[in-house]
Amino acid sequence: MYDFTGQKVVITGASRGIGKEITLAFLECGATVFGIYGGNTNAAETFQAECLHFSGKLQLYQCDVSDENQVTNFYKKLENQFDTIDILVNNAGIRQDKLLVLMDQESWQKVIDINLTGTFNMCRHAVLLMLKQKYGRIINITSPVATLGFAGQTNYGASKAGQIGLTRSLCKEVARKKITVNCVSPGFIETELIEDLDPELLKQYKKNVPMRRFGTVTEVANAVLFLASKNAAYISGTVLDVNGGL
Ligand code: NAP
Repeated sequence: MYDFTGQKVVITGASRGIGKEITLAFLECGATVFGIYGGNTNAAETFQAECLHFSGKLQLYQCDVSDENQVTNFYKKLENQFDTIDILVNNAGIRQDKLLVLMDQESWQKVIDINLTGTFNMCRHAVLLMLKQKYGRIINITSPVATLGFAGQTNYGASKAGQIGLTRSLCKEVARKKITVNCVSPGFIETELIEDLDPELLKQYKKNVPMRRFGTVTEVANAVLFLASKNAAYISGTVLDVNGGL
């Protein structure tokens, strides 16, 4: 559907779940992808092996997006090969659910650091590169929890709401340079992120989705590719919901 031939894409959380599907979708459309993963080297190596037929167009790097030094080193490696990037997808994210009164400072901070500060760290370098070529697309993966709320997810909800605030302000800073900044907000998507939830609870959640089903990673990737495409040139600062009508 889209042609991203010649475009350089950075995707965080690229080795599993939604990020893996987004990575595959860009590769299939001709892009070169620099993917980031956190600590699961097995998953990353398996995925890299699955992508051999893309002739070196996927490079996966271990990098903790919450660590500014690691992010700087990642971009240094990228800049050894390319002057700039065209697209950044901030997809890496974690949950550590607990009711607020039981949540320790560490769980609060870790989720904010990875989900929100990670987005900031990745954007800062990407924007500097995109400004050089006066073109870019940034897509941040947020969540309906940002606006609807969910008991047990004050840290996650705050991090995801923060991403929306970051998106809306950053889009105004870079709009004149033809850089767009948007969010995609997936509803329940069947990935390892929600695997630990009680199956009975998941049944309940499904009943609350107007379409009575969870979404697929492909449905999220489709939304990301649209926002990353030239067709979406006049869309910036928005949140595209992919949630079955929640
Ligand atoms: P997932 O299957 O758990 O995958 C998470 C990815 O993020 C993995 O590649 C992981 O790398 C990476 N990651 C975690 N911590 C990292 C760090 N510190 N630095 C770099 N990478 C890190 O999650 P998912 O379901 O695909 O979710 C992807 C995004 O969608 C998240 O932002 C999530 O909040 C959002 N989302 C998901 C749903 C859903 O229902 N699944 C709904 C709404 C929003 P490793 O493999 O190395 O750990």
